[in-house]
Amino acid sequence: MDAQAWLDADVSAIDGVSGRAAGVLRAAFEIRTVRDLLEHYPRAYRDIGALQPLAQAPLGEPVTIVGAITGWSVMRPGARGRGGGRGRRGLVIAKATVVDDGGDRVEVPFFNQEWRPRQHPPGTRVAVSGVLERFRAALQLKNAKLVVLGADGASAPADVDADVDGDVDEELERIQPAYPATDPLPSWRIARFVGSALEQLEPLEDFLPAELRLRHTLIDLDSAVRGIHRPRDLDQATAARDRLVYDELLCLQVGLQQRRERLERQAAGVENTPAGTGGAAARFIEFLSFNLTGAQAAALAEIGADLARPKPMHRLLQGDVGSGKTVVAAWAMLSALDNGRQAVLMAPTEILAEQHFRTFSEMLAPLGVNAPAGPRLELLTGSVTAKKLRGLLAEVAVGDVQLLIGTHALLEERVSFADLGVVVIDEQHRFGVEHRTRLRDKRSDGRWPDVLVMTATPIPRSLALTVYGDLDVTVLDELPPGRQQIVTQVIPSGSTRRRSLYGFIRERIAAGERAYVVCPLIDKSETLDLAAAEEVYRHLSGEVFADFDVGLVHGRLPGAERERVMEAFRAGEIQVLVATTVIEVGVDVPEATIMVVEDAQRFGISQLHQLRGRVGRASARSYCVLFAGDAVDEAAEAGTLTIEAGAPNPRLLAVGSTTDGFALAERDLELRGEGSLFDTRQSGLPDLKLAKLIKDYDWVVQTRADARDLVERDPALDGFPQLRAEVRRRYGEERLAALEAG
Ligand code: ADP
Ligand code: MG
Repeated sequence: MDAQAWLDADVSAIDGVSGRAAGVLRAAFEIRTVRDLLEHYPRAYRDIGALQPLAQAPLGEPVTIVGAITGWSVMRPGARGRGGGRGRRGLVIAKATVVDDGGDRVEVPFFNQEWRPRQHPPGTRVAVSGVLERFRAALQLKNAKLVVLGADGASAPADVDADVDGDVDEELERIQPAYPATDPLPSWRIARFVGSALEQLEPLEDFLPAELRLRHTLIDLDSAVRGIHRPRDLDQATAARDRLVYDELLCLQVGLQQRRERLERQAAGVENTPAGTGGAAARFIEFLSFNLTGAQAAALAEIGADLARPKPMHRLLQGDVGSGKTVVAAWAMLSALDNGRQAVLMAPTEILAEQHFRTFSEMLAPLGVNAPAGPRLELLTGSVTAKKLRGLLAEVAVGDVQLLIGTHALLEERVSFADLGVVVIDEQHRFGVEHRTRLRDKRSDGRWPDVLVMTATPIPRSLALTVYGDLDVTVLDELPPGRQQIVTQVIPSGSTRRRSLYGFIRERIAAGERAYVVCPLIDKSETLDLAAAEEVYRHLSGEVFADFDVGLVHGRLPGAERERVMEAFRAGEIQVLVATTVIEVGVDVPEATIMVVEDAQRFGISQLHQLRGRVGRASARSYCVLFAGDAVDEAAEAGTLTIEAGAPNPRLLAVGSTTDGFALAERDLELRGEGSLFDTRQSGLPDLKLAKLIKDYDWVVQTRADARDLVERDPALDGFPQLRAEVRRRYGEERLAALEAG
């Protein structure tokens, strides 16, 4: 059978894989084909030492002995009296005597594995590996692992196990792969299936262009596929992994770059070249009361080049909380104005849209925006009254309104533009792919406006480059000067320090500062959560801060009411704002210096980081207090229980330990595991079997550069038909579409 046909064959075609074993592979690991099995990679390797006759084996080192079990003895060292069941501490030692082919004997103890003598009766031929020691008068193998070699297959149910030949040298390599395994199918049996699948595999043709292999000194495909499962030594395992990781990431990147190339080729854009001195974009920068950071200036240069091209811009702007993305976005929008076009900014919530509207109104006033005869800036949300809406839609449609800020309401069919030049999407991960497409399609001539998407929460670079492989990425990796470090503390909910905290807040308020108190609100438990937030509000307003003004804001409040409360907090008429996570993102009240989060363990790392970003926005020293209620239970639930009673969970510890959003994003990725990033992405993630985005960051960068280079030179990969076929097999158009940034 040729190699490709064999890879596509059902696992049950492999010698030794019974129907029942195939069923277990499918149920436990979704392994259906030979390829699936060969992509079930070892999670670790164990060096079992050289295979040696006992007489020559060194003491104190890992060795492997082949021989037969001649007998068992079972001891209960803690037992009281005669035959007294389990010992005091329940310890049972089952000790096998193994005699090797040279006639020498070794004892192999197993602790609390009473089933062993039954499973491996005298006569079973085995390989045992462990560290050889002398114990009293006998030789003993410590921490032994045992592999059954005999034809009796005694270590597994007979109908699952196939006949195993006793060809020891073939079967027992010095480096043993450890596979993700399951009860009826231990690692060694999976290793055997893999071994026989590889034996039946014809040499694989290499799809990778030779120039790339040479550039990165990668081994060939056939050696890699065999080497990852049965390496001669650990170096070979590493070389095999490098090659296969490269393949995974390269194919993904090539797929994304091809898609990007195709979209760009199909789409005509519009030019939004920022006008020189005297233009709105340039004057905006001139009028700012501060200097741009280096990162902002670099972002403007990159984005400016995109805007000037006739191709549509397709760029992601990311930066830590407070890095000043808004200025960059406003500048891009004003470039549309410089070209007589319109620009729109879409935000995920009304609160955010309202706030952007206010910020823009202030920032742009020196340019004459919303002055008589000046350019018009308007807000479009679900709360706009029907009467006002009719007029607004008409003005947008004829181009009398040039700058529009809004929510999902912007997406509605009836919103049409005269000449839309620039689209900015804030917090893009809260929108689906179709949302971005709908805004993009709001030009009547079918051309695409320039699109800038922003993430308010940093994501690890490696993830951005992988998942957003079809976007250009600009990172604001610098905060404006003079920012205060925010002091963060994690405190158990019931701690007596709560009272002194309240005292401290009173002092700060008396000094003219303000505080947020945030309560969780999760969809699933919304009613209960709302009640809890209201309870906190009653307690704080009625007792703790009775002599101050306390407000409550949550998503259930009507828009006008919510806005009234926010405005009062902004103006200082309210000094303590109790809120659910509606304030999570982007809310900007410079006088707010204290952020208290109740039940902080219920929030994710990036949410907490966002919340903390609501303070420290001016030069006053700021504080973030995370109250951890039930932290230990939560941690147990999350399976991260390496925690002493009372200690907070690892997410809170992470947030408490650094204010660097990128570092936190990486920690988040580590803690949650790379398979569970649905917070970051609404749509599917690439299915990476081997590559780890953080650990393999260098490969992410390399493959992205290689893929760009390849696709630029040869978009359809006509010169590399084998690579093209491999990319298609792994990442068809449909899967890539699902991956496209929202
Ligand atoms: P984010 O990236 O979180 O959206 P913002 O755009 O809201 O950050 O900016 C945070 C604050 O920093 C705003 O008050 C903004 O006016 C201010 N700011 C932005 N750029 C600078 C700068 N270069 N120097 C000083 N302050 C700046
Ligand atoms: Mg912002």
